[in-house]
Amino acid sequence: MRMIIFGPPGAGKGTQARRIAERYGIPAISTGEIFRSNIKNETALGLQVKEILATGGYVNDDITNAIVADRLAQEDCAPGFLLDGYPRTAEQVDALDVELAARSNELDAVLELTVDDEEVVGRLLKRAEIENRIDDTEEVIRERMAIYHRETQPLAAMYAARGLLVQVDGLGDIDDVSLRIGEALDGRVR
Ligand code: ADP
Repeated sequence: MRMIIFGPPGAGKGTQARRIAERYGIPAISTGEIFRSNIKNETALGLQVKEILATGGYVNDDITNAIVADRLAQEDCAPGFLLDGYPRTAEQVDALDVELAARSNELDAVLELTVDDEEVVGRLLKRAEIENRIDDTEEVIRERMAIYHRETQPLAAMYAARGLLVQVDGLGDIDDVSLRIGEALDGRVR
């Protein structure tokens, strides 16, 4: 199973990604988490991207593409993978296509979690109290939403044209959303 999960900030991608990955026995790869762990460990990459994450912008495509290519080359990705938060730009879609073609691999599904903007802003502000993420202030959240709608949401149409898009309503409690995802993905599993 090779798939992508995407949706606006706060849609619950990370939580659902971990569940899907467990269910299909594939690694969940979150570019956001990779960046955050590099920031935490103060690596060269972390220092380079810290300010970008703090303001809600997107990390440069070349950097992000290289990180994902490296990760996909690791052995645990042979049976499949779930990309969470990548691709986020049209250029990243192209880079992923090249990467997959080089391995004679194809995507099985692209899952879009749909949610209402105001609902997710509320969720993120609540999470901010618990997780203390540098990018969970209201101003930065609004910026991340705006960038998402401008750069990433349009990618849904590209994958829909390829017959890969699966849209699932991300509102409701975590278990309900997981059930919906399970039903929507059944039949696409390899
Ligand atoms: P969310 O989608 O909730 O904002 P993520 O953990 O997916 O959280 O991403 C956090 C931040 O990491 C993004 O706001 C962005 O700065 C950076 N990031 C993650 N993935 C990408 C990507 N594919 N391209 C560029 N920047 C990314």
